[in-house]
Parts: sequence; structure tokens; C-alpha cells
Amino acid sequence: MPAGIQHYINGRSVPGRSGRTAPVFNPATGEAANQVPLASRQEVDEAVAASKRAFPQWSMTTPLRRSRILNRFLRLLQDNVDRIAQVITAEHGKVLSDAAGELARGIEVVEFAVGAPHLLKGDITENVGTHVDSHSLRQPLGVVAGITPFNFPAMVPMWMFPVALACGNCFILKPSERDPSASLILAELLQEAGLPDGVFNVLHGDKEAVDAILHHPDIAAVSFVGSTPIARYIYETAAQSGKRCQALGGAKNHMVVMPDADLDQAIDALMGAAYGSAGERCMAISVAVPVGERTAEELIGRLEPRVRALKIGPGTDREAEMGPLVTGQHRDKVKNYIDIGEREGAKLVVDGRGFKMQGYENGFFLGGTLFDHVTPEMTIYKEEIFGPVLSVVRSPDYDTAAELINKNEFGNGTAIFTRDGDTAREFAHQIQVGMVGINVPIPVPMAFHSFGGWKASLFGDHHMHGPEGVRFYTKLKTITSRWPTGIRGGADFVMPTMR
Ligand code: NAD
Repeated sequence: MPAGIQHYINGRSVPGRSGRTAPVFNPATGEAANQVPLASRQEVDEAVAASKRAFPQWSMTTPLRRSRILNRFLRLLQDNVDRIAQVITAEHGKVLSDAAGELARGIEVVEFAVGAPHLLKGDITENVGTHVDSHSLRQPLGVVAGITPFNFPAMVPMWMFPVALACGNCFILKPSERDPSASLILAELLQEAGLPDGVFNVLHGDKEAVDAILHHPDIAAVSFVGSTPIARYIYETAAQSGKRCQALGGAKNHMVVMPDADLDQAIDALMGAAYGSAGERCMAISVAVPVGERTAEELIGRLEPRVRALKIGPGTDREAEMGPLVTGQHRDKVKNYIDIGEREGAKLVVDGRGFKMQGYENGFFLGGTLFDHVTPEMTIYKEEIFGPVLSVVRSPDYDTAAELINKNEFGNGTAIFTRDGDTAREFAHQIQVGMVGINVPIPVPMAFHSFGGWKASLFGDHHMHGPEGVRFYTKLKTITSRWPTGIRGGADFVMPTMR
């Protein structure tokens, strides 16, 4: 067994001391390739103490100096794309090109964060009262924490920490214990870029570490991305202990296909958005909603052979379009949903349960699966499956399709495929979802916009990265000042007003 994964605290790799570990699998082979330590409350305390010590100096470092360190980090990241992608593929299972793709989206946030000094500029109003000026500025929060999911082991942490650091905060990252190693390379590169010790720490762990973070009095804010039940718990617990919190949850993303859509384009989009990364994306399309029977028949008829022909393989196979699922447990959970879908009466058009990968018989593979005639009452419609399973819910008209989406518990992403400007505009306006695509299946905002869903897909007020990220990681202060002018007004006992 390899030496094992370590925490990264105060600029050093530190072995776990709790005595608790979890296996980290190679999803393609099914072997437990490594062990990750699970931090105790005491180890959380040590990381927070290191961050707290580093904060005064880091927060006083000029924004431009902070940016220059991030700029060096950016270049190091660009030089290390292949290395990081290989680590992601080895622990997550996604194909290498997809791993490099998530890294590219994370790198964009670093590019954005390098420009943060511009967003930290305050506002000033001269003469708000006679001889009185007022200015507002944004200051860092202190020590902040990020708790992240398995499905984007590099990108999701990078939605958070580049912006937090650029704003002058110190950061504790608690990555997913299922694929923890990419975050350690990020820590190493930050150090190489010149980040002072203690400003960025990586602490591995499970609920014990998360709870210690949530209750720690020296942590000012928590960013979370993961499943909805845990997001809700994180938000409520963080709020109870007085922390600022943004907690992004699960999703059930619908794609409406109108009768006038370019069907070739819609089918290509559905294949990538439903089965890319084996459906383990919070912005994956898991429900297709063809409008009208003719659209539905044609869509299903053309999707079926494409789903059967999916190229599945280990993530290192350059030809593969889809890799294995992250763990055997998760693969079994997704399989169970397929059983439930069949039992509840959906039509199983393509069944991925029997898929076997030659030479990788113990890997966590599952074939692409397609259900037709799914109804809103079915479990496979209501719950997030997070696997390569696409459900088709047929809709008689546009209004029924829009109502279906608006009634859904989740509101992360959605898309409409149509050639009609009126319909697209109406959809964008009325749909109760945070990120909307028009002929774009996965409308993940660029780094200089902000990422976030609505309803049970996000608890809190701020979306991630972009201007919202800067707002989340800073607090606003407004200073009203008057300098002695020799003019005396005498004591004033009424509420100050502008005069
Ligand atoms: P998860 O909720 O199981 O885990 C997320 C994090 O929470 C991990 O770091 C984990 O260690 C921790 N955690 C797990 N159980 C916990 C508990 N009981 N108490 C405290 N902490 C706990 O999610 P996952 O399976 O790693 O990731 C997949 C989920 O993340 C999906 O639901 C997906 O939709 C969601 N996700 C959402 C977005 C988004 O932007 N909304 C992005 C990526 C992933």
C-alpha cells in the first residue's frame, strides 16, 4: 500500500494522527489504491490556529502582491495540467480530457481572482453632508473554510479559494475524502508560487472534521458544495454558530426540446450533458423533456442507438467518452435507481446494468441508461441519481414543460432547445432556475459571472466566484468622516441628517 495521503497544514505535509482513515479507490480497477486520514477535532484546531496566525499579515499584504502570487500560481497550474488531470482520473474515474476540462474551468477562476484588486475598490461620495465625506470598503472575513464534493476535485475548490485568498482571507479546504489528492497538488503549487505558510491548508476528513469546522469559533465563513441534505445541514449549523454560509446542493436539470429545435444539435447536446463524466455533474442533464409526441418519438429513436454506442472505458483510455462511477457503493446506488424506475413503470429503453468492461471486471462501470415515459411521480424523476441515467418525460406543450421544471424541488441548471426567440425569451424569464441555457446544454457561467442555483440547489444568499464571490468573502464597512474646518455647529441631539 502506498505511503498514504497527508494533511497540509501551515505549509507542510502532516500525517494524520486520529487513527481513522478511509480507502481511496481507483474506480477503473476497483482496488483501494490509497488511504486518506480523517481529521479529528484537534487536527482541525491546529489548522485553524495556523490560519489565524497567518491572517494579520496576509490581510495586510497589498492586493497587488496577493494578485502576483496568484498569477504565479496560475502559470504553475498551466504547467501542471497533465499531472493534476492524471490524479483526478486515478481517483475520480472521469476521462482525462474531462479532468483537464474541469481544471481549465478552475484555472479561469484564478484568472478572475488575479484581477480582484479592481473589485476590492470601494465607493466614495464627497460631501454627503457639509464638509462630510463617506466611503465604503470591503475587508476580508478572516479564516474561511471550503467543504467540497467528489465530482470536481479541482474545479469546485477553485470556485472558492482563489477568490477568498485574493480578498485577503486564509483558507481551510476540506476536500472530498473519495478523491483527496488533487487538492494537495494545488497546495504544493500555491506554496511554490510564494503563498505564506498557514494561508492555505488542506484537511481531509468526514463528518467529524466538518462538524469541527462548523462549530469552530475562529472560522468566519463556510462555503459548501455537495448533496442537498448535507447542504441544508451545513447551512443551518453554520448559521446557528453565527457564520456566513453559502451551501450549494444537488440538482435535477431538465432540457426542453421544442418541436422546432435543431434535433441533431439537441441530441449531441443531450449525449454529452447526460453521459459525460458518467452523469456525475451537478449540471448534468438528467431529464429530457421533448414537447409533442412527434418530437418525443424522434428523440428516443435517435438517442437509443447513440446511448448503446457510448464508448466506455477507464479514464486513461483516450478513446473513452465515459469512465466508471466513483465508488462501488455509488455504482450500486445508481443501479438500484434503475431497478426502481423499472418497477415503477418507466420504459427502460437502454439498460446499463449488465455492462462489463473487459480487463476491468472489478471496476465501478455502469452502461449508459435511457428511460422513456417517466412521470413526475416516479422516484427516478424526483430524486437526484447522479449517474449515467437519462429520463425522458414527454410533455404535450411548452407550458406543461415549464410548469414541470418550476415545480421541481431543485433549480440548479436547465436548458431549452428551440429556434424560436419568443419561446426562448419567455423560458429565460419565467423559469425558476439559477442557470439557464438557450441551445446550450450545460450553462456553467464563466468565472467573471457567478455560479449558483435556486431552490434546494443553494442555501444562502451568494453564488460562487465572480462578483458574488468577492461579496461573500468580504464584509462591507462604510466610513463617514469630517475633518476640523473651524466651523462649529454646536452639540446636536437629533438623528444626523444631511444638511
Ligand atoms: P456529499 O454531500 O456526500 O459530500 C460533500 C462534502 O460533504 C464532502 O466533503 C463530504 O465529506 C461532506 N459530508 C458528507 N456527508 C456528510 C455529513 N453527514 N456531515 C457532514 N459532512 C458530510 O456530496 P458528494 O457525493 O461528494 O457530491 C455529489 C453531490 O454534490 C451531488 O448531489 C451534486 O449535485 C452535488 N454538487 C452540487 C454542485 C452545485 O454547484 N450545486 C456542484 C457539484 C456537486
